[in-house]
Amino acid sequence: MIYDLIVIGAGPAGIAAAFEAKKNGAKNVLLLEKAKENCQTFRVYYKDGKRVDKVYKGIDVANKGNLNFVDGTKESTLELFDNAIKQSDFEYKTSCEVEKVKKEADNYKVVTSNGDFLTKYVVVAIGRMGKPNKPDYKLPSKFSKVINFNANDAKENEKILVVGGGNSAAEYAVDLSLKADVTMCYRKAEFTRLNDINLQNVKNAKINLLMATDIVEVSDSLDKPSVKFTNGTTMEFDRIIYGIGGSTPVDFLNNCSINIDDKGVPSFDANTMQTNMQGIFVAGDIASKNGESIMIALNAAKSIADFCFKA
Ligand SMILES: Cc1cc2nc3c(=O)[nH]c(=O)nc-3n(C[C@H](O)[C@H](O)[C@H](O)COP(=O)(O)OP(=O)(O)OC[C@H]3O[C@@H](n4cnc5c(N)ncnc54)[C@H](O)[C@@H]3O)c2cc1C
Repeated sequence: MIYDLIVIGAGPAGIAAAFEAKKNGAKNVLLLEKAKENCQTFRVYYKDGKRVDKVYKGIDVANKGNLNFVDGTKESTLELFDNAIKQSDFEYKTSCEVEKVKKEADNYKVVTSNGDFLTKYVVVAIGRMGKPNKPDYKLPSKFSKVINFNANDAKENEKILVVGGGNSAAEYAVDLSLKADVTMCYRKAEFTRLNDINLQNVKNAKINLLMATDIVEVSDSLDKPSVKFTNGTTMEFDRIIYGIGGSTPVDFLNNCSINIDDKGVPSFDANTMQTNMQGIFVAGDIASKNGESIMIALNAAKSIADFCFKA
């Protein structure tokens, strides 16, 4: 099945993008949210009872869309977006983190923690609050330069530990195995989340696999990070790369081949919100350096729906 539209992130921008697309007649629309519930910025960063202003940071714009956002509270604003999800008939999946978007023939493949989906159009509405997931144990600050959450800084011939068993970890390990000495450790006995290509690539690559193995501690007692594993062994590495989910907005945009400027802001057409990737759009806080406002997010969503689905 090929969706008309997949929207990534169920904050105000994403919910409005799915809602307005359906209003304009789009047939198959899928909204994907990585958390268990929508609107994570409200739920995590707004205090209970917080006043939510329509004119925010001095940005006063008229509402062009169909969601009746007015001055209110955290609770009334959440209710507006909860109801938009209930009242519209787009498909909605929570606990589904999107890792990247890839061009595939005339469509896009949206790669998620729960499988891949094909779509004609994509709206990236992931906000600006994204961070890579970190492990529960302490990471020594002494090694902050060589304990990374992407593979951008890795160097040739380094001894590298890649932590994780998802597609990101697998791709880091396979790519790096061409130029470095790579060990990959995963807490489960088998890879259950890899797509077929990554599974094959991991099997064929020169990677020292430590399956059913977790990390107990990363110690700073030596010159390099020293890792104690649950199987009782300890190994030293030049670099540790965690690929255990979550990403910064910049890493996410790079994963979608969207051009960004030196401040990490995507380039897009201001009328349509379309990026350099034809058919991929941005809406909401991700489209600015420091985030903007709910009203700006809703209007961007309406512009995208009008561009893609206006009857
Ligand atoms: C403390 C505070 C107070 C504010 N007060 C106001 C106010 O009074 N009025 C106002 O207009 N604005 C206010 N804002 C700004 C407003 O909250 C933002 O402009 C708005 O939330 C942006 O919406 P968004 O949909 O772009 O992003 P977000 O609200 O950040 O939503 C993004 C969603 O995408 C999900 N997501 C992220 N990555 C992925 C992924 N890889 N896969 C799937 N899902 C993903 C996230 O979990 C999240 O639910 C305030 C902001 C803060 C922090």
